[in-house]
Amino acid sequence: MPRTGFDRRSFLKSAAAITAVLTGSKPSSTHSQTEKPKKKMIGIQVGAVSFVDEGVDKVLDVFQERAQVNTLFLAVFTYGRGIAGRQVPGQPLPDHGKQEYDLNFHGGNYATVHAQYYKDTVLKNLRAPDHGDLDILATVLPAAKKRGIQTICWLEDVFRPDLPNIEKVQERDLSGRNARTLCFNNPDYRNFLLGLVEDYTRSYDIDGIMWGSERMGALGNALGASHGGANRDPGGVTCFCSFCEQKAKQQGINFARVREGYGALEKFVRDSRGGKRPVDGYFVTFWRIALRYPEILAWEMFWTQSLRETYSAIHDKVKSIKPNVPVGWHIWHNNSFSPFYRAEQDLQELSKYSDFLKMVMYHNCGGPRMASYIDSVGSTIFRDVPKQQLLEFEYRIMNYEERSHEQIPNTGLSSDYVYREAKRAVDGVAGAKTQIWPGIDIDIPTGASQSKSTPQGTKDAVIAAFRAGAQGVILSRKYSEMKLANLSGAGEAVRELGFV
Ligand SMILES: [Zn+2]
Repeated sequence: MPRTGFDRRSFLKSAAAITAVLTGSKPSSTHSQTEKPKKKMIGIQVGAVSFVDEGVDKVLDVFQERAQVNTLFLAVFTYGRGIAGRQVPGQPLPDHGKQEYDLNFHGGNYATVHAQYYKDTVLKNLRAPDHGDLDILATVLPAAKKRGIQTICWLEDVFRPDLPNIEKVQERDLSGRNARTLCFNNPDYRNFLLGLVEDYTRSYDIDGIMWGSERMGALGNALGASHGGANRDPGGVTCFCSFCEQKAKQQGINFARVREGYGALEKFVRDSRGGKRPVDGYFVTFWRIALRYPEILAWEMFWTQSLRETYSAIHDKVKSIKPNVPVGWHIWHNNSFSPFYRAEQDLQELSKYSDFLKMVMYHNCGGPRMASYIDSVGSTIFRDVPKQQLLEFEYRIMNYEERSHEQIPNTGLSSDYVYREAKRAVDGVAGAKTQIWPGIDIDIPTGASQSKSTPQGTKDAVIAAFRAGAQGVILSRKYSEMKLANLSGAGEAVRELGFV
């Protein structure tokens, strides 16, 4: 059983003391406080479809009554069903909203496309056709504002392959094929993103921008170093487009050697997955390839640096228009699993252009996802290590104490995991003004036989996040997949902590 990383009882006692200070009543304890009695950001991710299905005021009532929500993370741009659609087909529908799947989900921009902001890109009119002429920002913003609820635009780096001109902005993989993902070094994509945030910032009275890019560079992709990574094609790594080639050249990176190195890595990964053990073992052979081709690491960082430049450009664009509009990022769940990916999420570096960071720490689906990560790297670089031992090594280096490889898909990760991840993030941005808003899991889909969210689990996760010093939480991934009782679990935590 995992050990609790904090004393919940004494924390609740000090939270009660904070409430007493706020309400002017006599504190029941003289316990010294570490928390400041300051208003916390209680956010929820929600897509247009929920407001369409259930009515704007009805949804806002539910948010306020059940979870004390004071900030919407409104999915305004994505082609991903994960944040903008209804429940994933095949998963049980929750106890609210329309009781059918949106099998014709399309995605795009759920607000009005103001053409003047898209002059410098080939991605012109990406209006989502899902709800006719509905402009979700124009509809929800005034209703939320009337209640004192803030609205942050929530944008995702997810596209579909059937959009006009999309082939001109897609990444190119090792074999020269177009990838589904778009290239940060392609001016048409960079200009699209900047035009999009300019459009939202100038056209609406928004309270913030959050963009999420759930991607990683070529090294992580080649190794399958993520949850679900076993399905990744080591030959599908990116980006080898002409813009990247040009930029690499300017930085003195030998593009031909990069390709050669990733070709060697591709062969290693395919052989490893096939159980073809190299004479010196899996890890040593991987490291030998990395030593022979240091360009592999250079290329990984080249990609990550391009992502950071994109963050910085978006931040600067919004600030140049409205300096007080907060800008931040959704940091992918893989940050909790892959030490390679975590190393690239340098919070001191990110804090330079982040008003807030939504660090994903989804505890419930974190169980199956952690097991999936172990299964994937356990079939490539760490194939010589039995799964349970590999998981124990993982817990040591990532600083967790969770259950066994066999158990976690059925139990999820504990609230102690949320505490440790939130604390690490808060400590990671020490000295910066960046706020940490952990992403809390409410009913994120898992396999039929796997762990499911509960009201108590949700409540414990929210308490753990605040106990660790977070300034807010973001209930995720989207209202349209959440059960009402689990949403209430979050509200119970907020009330118990005295934040309302
Ligand atoms: Zn490229």
